[in-house]
Amino acid sequence: MKRGSNMPAVGTYNQTLVLDMIRRSPAGLSRTELAERTGLSAQTLGNVARRLAAEGFVVEGHRVVAGPGKPRTPLQLNRTARYAVGIHLDPAVDTFVVVDLSGGVIAHTERPPAEGADAPELIAALARDADALLRSADVPLARVLGIGVAAPGPIDDATGTVLTPPLLPSWHHTRLREQLARATGHPVVLEKDVVAAMVGELWAEADHALDDAALVYYGAGIGLGMAVDGEAVRGRTGNAGDIGHLLVDPGGQECSCGSRGCLGVTVAPERLLFDAGITPSPVIAPTAVWGAIDELRVRIAAREARAVEVRDRAAATFALAIVLLNNLLDAETFVIGGPVWNRLGRELKPALDAALPTVRQSTATRPLVLREARLGTDLAAAGAASLVLDEAFTARASDLMIGLS
Ligand SMILES: [Zn+2]
Repeated sequence: MKRGSNMPAVGTYNQTLVLDMIRRSPAGLSRTELAERTGLSAQTLGNVARRLAAEGFVVEGHRVVAGPGKPRTPLQLNRTARYAVGIHLDPAVDTFVVVDLSGGVIAHTERPPAEGADAPELIAALARDADALLRSADVPLARVLGIGVAAPGPIDDATGTVLTPPLLPSWHHTRLREQLARATGHPVVLEKDVVAAMVGELWAEADHALDDAALVYYGAGIGLGMAVDGEAVRGRTGNAGDIGHLLVDPGGQECSCGSRGCLGVTVAPERLLFDAGITPSPVIAPTAVWGAIDELRVRIAAREARAVEVRDRAAATFALAIVLLNNLLDAETFVIGGPVWNRLGRELKPALDAALPTVRQSTATRPLVLREARLGTDLAAAGAASLVLDEAFTARASDLMIGLS
């Protein structure tokens, strides 16, 4: 089912369609090229372009003389026309970014999550820090479209409520969308972190290579983002993408669900750190994980046997999970990223690349492509900001149905 949008509509279907094409072409597109690609008449296209320019979304580039015929003047995205804020709530760190209309991050800050405070205090802290970042970035507030928030699931899509993410107890049952909108005066969207990450990667991708793809999110938990036909898959309730209980190691570690060898417990950073002999217990505070992961990285680089074995086992587990998910989705391209991946990816990627073709369960007809997230360390936060841009600027046929054209 198509969702309604909480973001104010920015333009008509034709305007968003044309703007979407322009923003995906760094060099810009001429009116002739746009007319060809959209199928709009020259006159309609001229009207659309004029309105986009009048509202400041596009600017005229330098005239280009190429071959016979009239020189063409490309229309280019005016990146500073609008901005969005993205916030990523994570058990170990809260990340804030401001992105411009191209989706590029122009300001970033992070801080340890507020602990033990009640919901109103947590909301007030988010509002204060988002506001401070906007001011430091010198962004005109009238150009801020809204705030996107990415949180671990489960969420309640209908009310914009953070339900019961296991590692964020202080946020449980908080009506975040409504309360943060009231505290900041900006519209707010809330999505599960993996969905936000997928939207962010789709937004950052110029050539539609991820229109049918998947994204493995490796953080405190593990999740799957999915794109079908250029749209992130949210599921009925906004909670699609839970792969923590995918069985990858029968007889392996015991999981909270009662089974053994679920993906989540098998590659949990706490488990890897314990198995590598770095931490004395497989249960440590989320905030203590980062420093220990850095130590694991150092030991892998030094080729310490136990650390290398842990790395290879994690790579084989990821390879099996990705192959099984690809058998299901036929995604072919998998993006991988997230907070733990950011710290360990350089060590894990070569081992994972080597392991993928050896997984015998694969039913794919072509080799799997695995690549790292373009948004890097800002994956979920920039993804959250992209939710705002996406709602405001992505041309959807459903918009035609509800009469925005
Ligand atoms: Zn389980």
